[in-house]
Amino acid sequence: MTRDIVVLGAGMVGVCTALALRQRGHAVVLVDRQAPGRETSYGNAGIIQREAVQPYAFPREWQAILRVALRQGNDVHYHPGALAHLSPALVRYWRESAPDRYASTVTAYSALIRHCLSEHDRLITLAGAQELVSKSGWLQAYRTAQAFDRAAQEATTVARVHGLNCLVLDQTGTAAMEPALYGRLAGAIHWRDPWTVADPGELVTRYAELFGREGGEFRRGDATTLKPTAAGWTVTTEDGPLSAANAVIALGPWASTLIQTLGYRFPLFVKRGYHRHYAAEPMPRLPLLDVERGVMLAPMRRGLRLTTGAEFALRDAPPTPVQLGRAESYARELVRLGPPTEVQPWLGARPCVADMKPIVGKAPRHPGLWFHFGHGHQGFTLGPVTARLLAELIDGEPPYLDPLPYDPMRFAS
Ligand SMILES: Cc1cc2nc3c(=O)[nH]c(=O)nc-3n(C[C@H](O)[C@H](O)[C@H](O)COP(=O)(O)OP(=O)(O)OC[C@H]3O[C@@H](n4cnc5c(N)ncnc54)[C@H](O)[C@@H]3O)c2cc1C
Repeated sequence: MTRDIVVLGAGMVGVCTALALRQRGHAVVLVDRQAPGRETSYGNAGIIQREAVQPYAFPREWQAILRVALRQGNDVHYHPGALAHLSPALVRYWRESAPDRYASTVTAYSALIRHCLSEHDRLITLAGAQELVSKSGWLQAYRTAQAFDRAAQEATTVARVHGLNCLVLDQTGTAAMEPALYGRLAGAIHWRDPWTVADPGELVTRYAELFGREGGEFRRGDATTLKPTAAGWTVTTEDGPLSAANAVIALGPWASTLIQTLGYRFPLFVKRGYHRHYAAEPMPRLPLLDVERGVMLAPMRRGLRLTTGAEFALRDAPPTPVQLGRAESYARELVRLGPPTEVQPWLGARPCVADMKPIVGKAPRHPGLWFHFGHGHQGFTLGPVTARLLAELIDGEPPYLDPLPYDPMRFAS
């Protein structure tokens, strides 16, 4: 079989890429080793984060670094044995988080985030997935007055600079906004622009079904079989070899494995994260991030999904859900949490790039190969945004936003 374009990876990023290219009239095959939306794009907190104009930087103050090093706090955990392997990318991450570099990263990142609601909105409507989406925002909550006061000031500034809507809620306001809370909080920032999704994996499935209805094809196959040919690229699928003039690598946390075999050494790493669902009575109305305890409480179809912060570890190392264990105790201090509704916690990996920007564009040394990965903490949000950008680049059209900050060439040496 020969097609125009094969897209490898059917997470939010790959599905949106395949859909954008199909809607532009290409013959597109989407390839994954399993059904669409079963990995990172399934297990996240489900927030389309319009407020996330500032990507997570590496801490620069020595107190914050020491707190992580001494494993105080629940937001970050690490495997000491993985640090030697991770350190080149982490050192670069630290350097890229210096104030001057970070400021230009925020400019580039916010330029993407700005489009997330409009790009998702179009797809949600076409996919008929409105019932999965709520438009009431989420709560960034604090236990101590000191942390709350500082965060409220920062949030107000960010909202003013970036044209976002946020409401600063004191203790009483927070309790009124979220009646399911019985634990006391000092206050919360209510980010009002973001949308939340009751089943993130299902939204990816709906987008993939839309892709199918519009004439796109899906095949199960192993992306690591990708090989260059005289006319383009070939990959082995369950239905036999598939050839295409162009290939897009959209493998999220697994992109590093394939691009290494092609000779690319990019500063990629993962921040692993866990979730588990619980019964809760009453169920909270809005997702709530307990910032000082490093746990997100996200109401979902399967129950209250507790998600954890960052775990620095090798992608394929065995699970060590210590953050989730603590997260459960902390959540019990805030809401009436029942038993877990599944036996094993879920483990996923945020696909991160040291300069905090996704990698979107032409592969530096391989004609007909395109990179689309590294969306870190916000790939569920940004999938359709960077998919549109990549589709415009593939078609050689003027892109709707400046592609330079995300160009893979920035790491080609
Ligand atoms: C705990 C947690 C909470 C998060 N919360 C949010 C949030 O609220 N909002 C937000 O925007 N983002 C959030 N994120 C980040 C977001 O989930 C990711 O950035 C996003 O899902 C990445 O999408 P992706 O399509 O690049 O990768 P994935 O969804 O992982 O897709 C990659 C695909 O590649 C396939 N694949 C891998 N190897 C092969 C192979 N050899 N052959 C064929 N196929 C292969 C996989 O099966 C998979 O389908 C969160 C992440 C975590 C871990």
